[in-house]
Amino acid sequence: MAVCPECESVLDFDEDDVEEGDVVVCDECGTEFEVVATDPLELSQRGDGGYEEEDEAEIADEDEE
Ligand SMILES: [Zn+2]
Repeated sequence: MAVCPECESVLDFDEDDVEEGDVVVCDECGTEFEVVATDPLELSQRGDGGYEEEDEAEIADEDEE
């Protein structure tokens, strides 16, 4: 079971039920983690602004259609 590196709470999700790119949120401190690998499980903390460009790219795709 993964533990939140921020507050050391157990992250309440099933490791068998997540895929790469999924986002899990710590119930205790609200920190978001992106699943970067599942075998073994590896989480990457999402920072403010670090993934903003991804959202903008999705909007651009919609505009093209
Ligand atoms: Zn936490």
